[in-house]
Amino acid sequence: RKIAVLAERASGETRVAATPETVKKLIGLGAVVAVERGAGLSASIADEDYRTAGADVGEADAITAGADIVLGVQGPDPALLGTVAPGAWVVAGLDPFGQGAGGGRARVEAYAAAGLEALAMEFMPRITRAQSMDILSSQSNLAGYKAVIMAADTYGRAFPMMMTAAGTISAAKCFVMGVGVAGLQAIATARRLGAQVSATDVRSATKEQILSLGAKPIFVENVAGIEGEGSGGYATEMSEEYQRAQGQLVSAHIAKQDIVITTALIPGRPAPRLISDAQIASMKPGSVIFDLAAPQGGNVEGTVADQVVEKHGVKIIGLSNTPAHLPADASALFARNLFNFLSAFWDKVAGGPVLDEEIGNAIRLTQGGRIVHARLQG
Ligand code: NAD
Repeated sequence: RKIAVLAERASGETRVAATPETVKKLIGLGAVVAVERGAGLSASIADEDYRTAGADVGEADAITAGADIVLGVQGPDPALLGTVAPGAWVVAGLDPFGQGAGGGRARVEAYAAAGLEALAMEFMPRITRAQSMDILSSQSNLAGYKAVIMAADTYGRAFPMMMTAAGTISAAKCFVMGVGVAGLQAIATARRLGAQVSATDVRSATKEQILSLGAKPIFVENVAGIEGEGSGGYATEMSEEYQRAQGQLVSAHIAKQDIVITTALIPGRPAPRLISDAQIASMKPGSVIFDLAAPQGGNVEGTVADQVVEKHGVKIIGLSNTPAHLPADASALFARNLFNFLSAFWDKVAGGPVLDEEIGNAIRLTQGGRIVHARLQG
């Protein structure tokens, strides 16, 4: 099988879908790997490193010619896939509900029309055997880390308590809203930097996790949240009563915080609004909010992706692609997710990957010229 790795073309995208390490492993499975010239440069990987690992390096049309599998971080432009093998796989984060250039329904339709089998890696089910293939987890983890680092850099004070000859500096108070993969890493990172950390979520199962990281849980007590993990591990939209109680709780807590990291998402829905303009106004001047939900509309009133917005003396940061700000590590983990996926399904007799029903139905968007995914029907 021929596996092609294209350079990413979306603006601000610095990652690459294969590294020399995964190229070597893919060749070990019996594949031929071709990488587009310059594909790894913004992730600090030279063409020569791919060649040393055994890949052919060339222009886009040469590397995609006859390819059976095309790997991407974001969905590749269908115009680049004119000469791939019939029924070739496109394996990437395809963002079928997104508005950006690398996603959206029109692009999925183009993959279908070209007879490609488009596999959306972000639809990988959250089940134990698929954990090593989970791009959302690997990238959210890094995003949670980077959010705290960038917030700390923007903050005009130090995170840890410092007792100096000139007097004492008090520790920063950091509040993490949404304790999924990104939120847990944000808590751990802020703790390592010496902040006093508190955190909240709608899922009761996160309380134990917050405590185990040495942070203080802040939870709505009088209205029921989501018991345990919720369906598929995810949150849903909460009742109006819950939202009101949460708003009051946040108002009381947030005025005392220096740093707030928001990460709350609901699958297939815009991000829930967690912080209002009035709540921002109650914070101390110089405080910093990092809104990791910026690409999904934001948890904070007034977030503008890729800008630092200042309101009431509070700086609000949000990025359209936070993992892309850690290009080397984000690529290394993304590439391993893709390798783990291909190798788990590699069939020696078929000489290539063959999906089972559970994972195939979860991630396959197009097949046989049609859109086949249940969530994309109608
Ligand atoms: P996510 O990115 O979808 O959401 C981030 C967090 O925001 C979640 O914890 C969610 O509960 C929370 N949230 C949503 N609405 C909120 C609101 N109104 N107020 C406060 N918080 C709100 O979540 P994720 O990081 O993808 O993780 C989702 C779940 O999947 C977690 O339980 C995680 O442990 C689990 N998970 C399982 C696996 C696996 O077993 N393979 C892998 C990764 C994650």
